[in-house]
Amino acid sequence: MQKFPTRRISANLLVFSVALLLTIFANLNFWSDFIRAIGGLSLTRVPLLAGSFAIVLLLFYASLIPFSFRFVAKPVLIALILTASASAWFINEYGVVIDKAIIQSIFETDLHEATELLNWRLVAFIALTGGLPSLYVARAAVSFPAGARGMLQRAGIVAAALAGATLLTVLLFKTLAPTVREHRELRYLLTPTNAVQALNGYLRNRWRTSIPLQPIGYDAVRGNRWAGQERRTVTVIVVGETARAANFSLNGYARDTNPRLVREDGLINFTQVRSCGTATAVSVPCVFSAMGREQYDDSVAAHQEGLLDVLKHAGFRVHWRDNNSGCKGVCDRVEFDDVSNSSASKGHCSGDECYDLELLDGLPELIRASTKDLVIVLHQKGSHGPAYSRRYPAGFGQFGPVCESSEFESCSRGSITAAYDNTILYTDTFLAETIDLLRKTALEANVDTSMLYFSDHGESLGERNMYLHGAPYMLAPEEQSHVPMMLWMSEGFSQRFHIDRTCLQARRDQALSHDNVFHSVLGMLNVETAVLNPKLDLFNACVRS
Ligand SMILES: [Zn+2]
Repeated sequence: MQKFPTRRISANLLVFSVALLLTIFANLNFWSDFIRAIGGLSLTRVPLLAGSFAIVLLLFYASLIPFSFRFVAKPVLIALILTASASAWFINEYGVVIDKAIIQSIFETDLHEATELLNWRLVAFIALTGGLPSLYVARAAVSFPAGARGMLQRAGIVAAALAGATLLTVLLFKTLAPTVREHRELRYLLTPTNAVQALNGYLRNRWRTSIPLQPIGYDAVRGNRWAGQERRTVTVIVVGETARAANFSLNGYARDTNPRLVREDGLINFTQVRSCGTATAVSVPCVFSAMGREQYDDSVAAHQEGLLDVLKHAGFRVHWRDNNSGCKGVCDRVEFDDVSNSSASKGHCSGDECYDLELLDGLPELIRASTKDLVIVLHQKGSHGPAYSRRYPAGFGQFGPVCESSEFESCSRGSITAAYDNTILYTDTFLAETIDLLRKTALEANVDTSMLYFSDHGESLGERNMYLHGAPYMLAPEEQSHVPMMLWMSEGFSQRFHIDRTCLQARRDQALSHDNVFHSVLGMLNVETAVLNPKLDLFNACVRS
């Protein structure tokens, strides 16, 4: 019965073999899609492909080594091999992506439905690609490195593998980053990472739904500057996307990217603002939460009310308009409309892309029709990459030549930056048009208006060979966290709230952050509540009684 080798295999070699097996055979679909995403197989792309293969292999190896202990290694490896085999089957057979929803349907379908998915080919496939290697692992005579030396050896392997993967990532970053960003589906194909992530996401979701929403600011009331006022107020909060402060000529950038905003006399431009995160999914919930960057926790934020809720408690009508990919939970309890796929557009959309001016369509009507004081959030598509040249209509291609591709390796750094600068130029027009609209509506609809603009995070454009955004905050370069922020108020708005513009102008070069937004919006609108921290309220020292 001794068909399997009896020679002892070292634990590290066994783990490496399984990592190699997973990298190749469990990911045939991943690699074929990856090759398509980088533009097909050719001799010049061999280094990129080989490098990416090595990155995946090294990462798998590094993450499996911590399990290479007696009694732990075999069950973990076998579970991964079987999971990978089953995932590969479902990806192959049904073209499904392995995500939270799939895991949910596996857990929550009844036995009858589940048996319909089972068939002999599936059993044969799993037996062959999962069962055989598992059997080998189960029967292998493994020698584990012992004692302190063994621990040191494992740590050394993890460190070396991670260093190797990091080095390769840095070398290939310019090409890899846009590919991964443009082809998000790839991460659902990488097996078994997809299944592990999806299971984790599913369990976290299950856990989350049982947590009740924690209200904040229920005591919110309007302060005494509201007394005797008859005009309604309209405040527009523009949430920018991927706009970095450095490329605004208002902040000293050499190219004239703000030809319109520079002419707005009353505009206050804050020059030293830091974002809460380096990605939309962190920054957007964080900036609207009362937590601040250091206390911010996404699972707590998902169950806690934020700025928009407090404004509602104080009697404002709150409306979120989106031209991005949704509000990341921030607008769950307020009015919402999505303009990113407007079929009834009046010329701000082309193909499946709507430019940001679409956000202003019908806004005067919305303002006039409202009977309450309004807070409107406009969520821009802004400068979202890597396809910067798709973010603005033809008339805004002022800087060039531009990179038309989302494959950065085919573009020079200069052409990538030129395309990015055109997105800032378009945002300049978008913000100026927003201000014009508010100025005009203030007169026509007899309301007091204001606009606060800030970007969610910045962007790397090739500095230190980094592109796009999303770097861990501790390591994130300045380009990814230094964001623009601006405030505009109609004459009537600053008068009714006794806001001293000169005082605010004098604060424009102070070190500020997304942490100031929550408290400053409440402070600006004279909302009184215990959650308002006056120290973070920009207006606190600039209101005259
Ligand atoms: Zn973003």
